[in-house]
Formats: sequence, structure tokens, C-alpha cells
Amino acid sequence: MKYDVMIIGAGPGGIFAAYELAKSNRNLKIGVLEQGNPLEKRKCPIDGVKVTSCVNCPTCSIMNGFGGAGAFSDGKYNITNQFGGTLHEFIGKEQALELMRYVDRINLENGGEGTKLYTTANSDLKKKCLQNKLHLLDASVRHLGTDKNYVVLENLYAYLKQHVDFYFGSPAEEIEKTNEGFVIVSKGVRYTADRCIISVGRSGSKWIEGVCKKLEIPTLSNRVDLGVRVELPAEIFSHLTDELYESKIVYRTEKYGDLVRTFCMNPHGAVVTENTNGIVTVNGHSYEDKSKHTENTNFALLVSKHFSEPFNDSTAYAENIVKLSNMLGGGVMVQKFGDLIRGQRSTPPRIADGFVVPTLKATPGDLSLVLPKRILDGIIEMIYALDKIAPGTANDDTLLYGVEVKFYNMTVKTDNRLMTRYDGLYVIGDGSGVTHSLSHASASGVYVARDILKTISE
Ligand SMILES: Cc1cc2nc3c(=O)[nH]c(=O)nc-3n(C[C@H](O)[C@H](O)[C@H](O)COP(=O)(O)OP(=O)(O)OC[C@H]3O[C@@H](n4cnc5c(N)ncnc54)[C@H](O)[C@@H]3O)c2cc1C
Repeated sequence: MKYDVMIIGAGPGGIFAAYELAKSNRNLKIGVLEQGNPLEKRKCPIDGVKVTSCVNCPTCSIMNGFGGAGAFSDGKYNITNQFGGTLHEFIGKEQALELMRYVDRINLENGGEGTKLYTTANSDLKKKCLQNKLHLLDASVRHLGTDKNYVVLENLYAYLKQHVDFYFGSPAEEIEKTNEGFVIVSKGVRYTADRCIISVGRSGSKWIEGVCKKLEIPTLSNRVDLGVRVELPAEIFSHLTDELYESKIVYRTEKYGDLVRTFCMNPHGAVVTENTNGIVTVNGHSYEDKSKHTENTNFALLVSKHFSEPFNDSTAYAENIVKLSNMLGGGVMVQKFGDLIRGQRSTPPRIADGFVVPTLKATPGDLSLVLPKRILDGIIEMIYALDKIAPGTANDDTLLYGVEVKFYNMTVKTDNRLMTRYDGLYVIGDGSGVTHSLSHASASGVYVARDILKTISE
């Protein structure tokens, strides 16, 4: 159980760190501890027939296992420094983009070839947005789609398992710093490693918080984004999604000056639930395979909240709001935009009566009883602003699902090598608070792997 490098977490950050290490130095002994299952054993029991809502599995197959939180995602790899994380603040803008392009090439070589790369460069939509107080952020986006994303992960695993020891169902419990390096304890087994990369993502947030406390690694509180997922007929957004696939649009509200933004756009996609540590929220995805397309497009509208004094636990704030929606709706809640504006609860007959057929079975309810007024006002303002560039967004039948939350881990204090105050202990990906996307998390894995390779060769 002695390794040159032990990686904790087999999400995109851990996978790309392992890939870069294994590919560049065949003599390295690399181990990966993953609390979830191998890819083929990751099955969410919700089948829409016998099991319609979350049953709180011991490890959530959507969030944990080989591929991490991104395994069943839409596989949108955004190549940009404008959103998805702040990796560029540590490693420089050019290097961050170069690493994201490198990750993109590996994905293409491993089954992603033929997928489309969309870009905002030279788009007229930017002007149209600006004319309506909306700001379109610059990015290139590779859309692998849920199905191809899965194939890429299968291929990466087929390669990696020849060179790397994977331990599934093995949550890292403790990390100790010893004279020989690091000891990582999982289920009574002690793994020793010269270097350790922690890449535990969002689902490992509570664990990493404990590690930082014990090892006295400083952390900073982070923001949380709260809002709803919008679902409407795909035609309404087709001029945006056909050209850009995903558009990140930001709006400043007139009432409070808050920023509201679109997030995770899924043309012809489906709305899904997500369970993080027992908290049921809403998300969305879509398939590259046209036969799996729906009639609808969905995207989130989110408002950022960051607390400092005297209360600084942004995550707890959002969790309590989600708990309220889970209590009232038994999970995710859905409301028609028209009902929200008229101040009335949506009911099953009113949802069934609408022209937009929901792709998720959620409980009809009243989002104004859940979301704080300031956030809801911002979302409503933005829906009317979007209606100017995509008429129909503010239709009565537009569906709003709540609550959508984007939790961010607290930021772990590292140097520019993403190394903590312990020589050889790195923290990467979403678990570090530095990244919050597939491309940034993957790029951080490659970056740290190269740093380790360099120190070994010196
Ligand atoms: C439904 C959904 C859709 C998404 N769609 C997109 C998208 O289209 N584009 C995009 O850019 N981003 C998307 N994201 C976000 C993206 O998935 C994450 O940003 C990305 O996966 C982060 O990678 P990571 O490796 O840092 O962490 P993760 O992917 O979260 O992986 C961390 C891994 O560590 C494991 N782990 C946690 N704690 C421990 C422990 N103590 N011991 C051992 N293992 C542990 C977990 O089981 C997990 O497998 C989506 C997320 C979800 C949930």
C-alpha cells in the first residue's frame, strides 16, 4: 500500500491528474481512492415508475463514483476564464486556456470526436443582448452530451486501470502527515504516499473541511448561487442554442443591483433531481443523441449570495432554503411563471393544462413561499429581460422548478502550485473551491500532475 502518488476522488480532477501522471511516467505507482462505484455500477434507482423520488442511497450514484459529479452530466466543457472557476488566478490566463484545450483534445481522442465546438466569437447575439441590458460572456463550449461523455469516461477508465490501482467503495477517512509522506486511512487500511492529491469535489466538501481543520490548513468562506430552473419550448431559445449551444448571460437587476445569470443550458434536454448529502435540488441535462431529445429547453437562473459577518456560512443558508422546498414539495417543486406572477400556487390540473409538458415529475407548488423575495424579484426581472431577446420566455406556461442551488466549496488556501502548506499535499477541482466546472477541474488535475512530474525529474 505504498504509492508515489495517491489521489482521493475519481471525478474529472482526479481522473485527469491520474491520466497525465500515468501517461508521462510509467514507473510511477499511482493509487486512487474513490468512495463511490465504478462507472458501470453507478445506477440511480429513480426509474420514474417504481421509484419516482430520491431514496437517499448510501453513496449517490449521480454524484459519486468514477467520473464524479460529471459522469451523467451534459458534458459541456467550457473553454473560458470568464466562468467555471478561478484557476487562471493561480496559473495565469494563457496556461489555464492551454490546459482546457489539452483536456478537450484528450476527450476527443477517447470517444468525443465528431462532437461540436460552439463559440461566442463574432456572434451578433452579443449586440442584441447588450441592447437589452444583458451581457453574453465569451466562451467556446464543447458539448459531448450525456451519452458521449459516458463513452469518454469508459475509454479513459479502460486506459487508466492498466496503470493505476483503483479502490472503489473506499472513502478516505483520515489523512496524516508523517516523516515518510502521507498516510491515508480508508476502512481500516493505511495507504502511504509520497504525494497526495485531494480531488473530492462538491460531495466531499464536509470531509475536506474536517481535514483542513485537523491539519490547520486555512480556508475562506465561499459564495452560494440560488434560483430556479426554467423549462420552455425549445423553439423559444433555438436562435441562441443553435448558434452557441450554451449561452452564459448576466443581467443586473434594476431593483437591487444584484447579478442574475443563466447557467447550464440544455437544449432539447430534461430536468432532473440531484441529491447532495440528503438535500434534493434540481438540475438539467441533454443528450447528443437526437433520438433522446425532448421538446423543451431548460436552464437555470441563479443569484449569488456571499455572507461575511456575523454569519458566514453561505452553504447552510442555501441548505435551509432547499430544506424548506423539500418540506413543502417532498422534493423538487414546480410552478408556472403565470401562476407565480398572479401569486397563486400551481396545482396538478393547472400544470397539466399548460402547453409546456414538464420533463420532470415535480410537485406543483408556490415558489414564493420558498425563495427569499430579493432572489425571486431578481429572477422575475431577468425573465422579462430575456423575453426581449427570446420572446416567449415570459409566457404564462413557462415552468420554474425550485430550488436550484450551486454550492461552492470553501476555498482551501494553496500556493500557485495548488499545494497546501504541506509539501506534496495538493488540493484540486471543485473540492478546492478554485474550480466549479468540468473543464477547470480537469485542467487543475493536469496542472498538478505536471508539477509533480517536474519535482520528480529534478
Ligand atoms: C447533474 C450535473 C450536471 C453538470 N453538468 C455540467 C456541465 O455540463 N458542465 C460543467 O462544466 N460542469 C457540470 N457539472 C459540474 C461538474 O460535474 C463538476 O464541476 C465537476 O465534476 C467537478 O470535478 P471534480 O473532480 O472536482 O469533483 P467531482 O466530479 O465531484 O468528483 C469528486 C469525486 O470524489 C469522490 N469523493 C468525495 N469524497 C471522498 C472521500 N472522502 N474519499 C474518496 N472519494 C471521495 C466523490 O465520490 C466523487 O466521485 C454538473 C454537475 C452535476 C451534478
